[in-house]
Amino acid sequence: MSNRRTFAIISHPDAGKTTLTEKLLLQGGAIHLAGEVKARGQARRARSDWMKIEQQRGISVTSSVMTFEKDGITFNLLDTPGHEDFSEDTYRTLTAVDSAIMVIDAAKGIEPQTRKLFEVCRMRSVPIITFVNKVDREGRSVFETLDEVADALALDVVPMSWPIGMGGVFQGVLDFATDTISRPEGDSREFLGTRTPAEGIPDDIAEEIELARGGYPDFDLEAYRHGDLTPVYFGSALKNFGVTELIDAIAKYAPPPRPQPSEQGTILPEAKEVTGFVFKVQANMDPQHRDRIAFMRLVSGTFKRGMKLTPSALGKPVAIHSPILFFAQDREIADTAEPGDIIGIPNHGTLRVGDTLSETNKVRFTGLPNFAPEILRRVVLKDPTKTKQLRKALDDLSEEGVIQVFYPELGGQWIVGVVGQLQLDVLISRLEAEYKVEAMLEAAPFDTARWLKGSDAALKGFADFNVANLAKDRDGDPVFLARSAWDVSYQQEKNPDLVFSATKER
Ligand code: GDP
Repeated sequence: MSNRRTFAIISHPDAGKTTLTEKLLLQGGAIHLAGEVKARGQARRARSDWMKIEQQRGISVTSSVMTFEKDGITFNLLDTPGHEDFSEDTYRTLTAVDSAIMVIDAAKGIEPQTRKLFEVCRMRSVPIITFVNKVDREGRSVFETLDEVADALALDVVPMSWPIGMGGVFQGVLDFATDTISRPEGDSREFLGTRTPAEGIPDDIAEEIELARGGYPDFDLEAYRHGDLTPVYFGSALKNFGVTELIDAIAKYAPPPRPQPSEQGTILPEAKEVTGFVFKVQANMDPQHRDRIAFMRLVSGTFKRGMKLTPSALGKPVAIHSPILFFAQDREIADTAEPGDIIGIPNHGTLRVGDTLSETNKVRFTGLPNFAPEILRRVVLKDPTKTKQLRKALDDLSEEGVIQVFYPELGGQWIVGVVGQLQLDVLISRLEAEYKVEAMLEAAPFDTARWLKGSDAALKGFADFNVANLAKDRDGDPVFLARSAWDVSYQQEKNPDLVFSATKER
């Protein structure tokens, strides 16, 4: 069986994702000093102009892939930008993982962003391990937290450990599987690795634990892998509690690379042919080279450096000479990669989000969604002679998934669509920095967009009456620009032969 575990961490900002990432990497020996994830990240970010936004807002827009090993298991941790304004990228990253860790703050419980990301996981039946973080601080009662997860997410919950007090009276975490306690040690009150027998637990907490052990069902691997049940671990990323248990849980329970749906049926990881799909494209990771990296998740076969693969959108094979594996944000040249691994493929715009790569060019993976934009803006050039540059820039950036672009059938004013405000700032900033195009965004008379599907006749019939609301997306597919959600339902009713889709799967 495969020793790959490809996963992401989902959380609301501030729940402790960065801290936990650091600790996971530390355990895997991928980095040596706590703090290095952020410190390195900052150094890297400082190099690139458009990333100024990240610094100003103190959030991470770029995502990366971190690979580490422990006890013979290779972990691929896909980082997801956590800010609530910028989630399309995050959603897409979740299409490339086999499981997720949901981090929640012991004092705050399920927060809005956690819930949104959870919904995406549920859509794809991605199994979830829950980590209740910050038990070294005051938090809600453990039962309350467990109930909230169960109710809010409609999941069965199984506590796998239990905090012995929280905040000022925090005395450690009891691990149910081994019946041992990890206790605060030394001045720092961190867990340093010595596990002690389950003794000396205060009466009220011993009672809670007895209730919990009797009251919740046993962990059921099938139900977890099916996305119906979540095992819940308690800990403190900052003080190192629960981190080993978490990593062991991923190794032991999280699914190895899963089969992926394609137009040609399900592709098994064991299949001989090398196949994969691009879930993210990132430009200018290295400002010196103006390169683009396409992030491909390998679905089947053993990839070897130099091998020729055919990107579905290109239709002819290209040799992948310098693929990149990401070891804790350092680039390393990969010689081989297995299903579940992520490969960075440098390119000059030939690879796009949603592309399938394969040896035979006969496979097309499905299920990578574009989301209907929630904010639409008209792009207005400050210097009208730069139309050509603007078109190129909009095409590039939409291909990267930074924005969506719509070219209306009437008039020359191009519309950009995003799911979060921050993407607009990124757009303006990158237009200037990378394309030397100064532009402004103006209100558009549209509120949302829907992709249209139907027979040519049905589409033509619709166009006859609604040409002012019709546009093409970057692929030339027809899009209905709606004035309001009401407009969408009205047109839907009037045009039963057409499908108005809020997502576009490629
Ligand atoms: P992110 O936004 O989810 O990446 O959260 P961070 O990892 O940056 O953490 C947010 C804040 O919470 C930081 O100040 C961390 O030091 C703090 N923090 C993270 N984990 C813990 C924890 O287990 N206990 C305590 N007390 N603080 C924590």
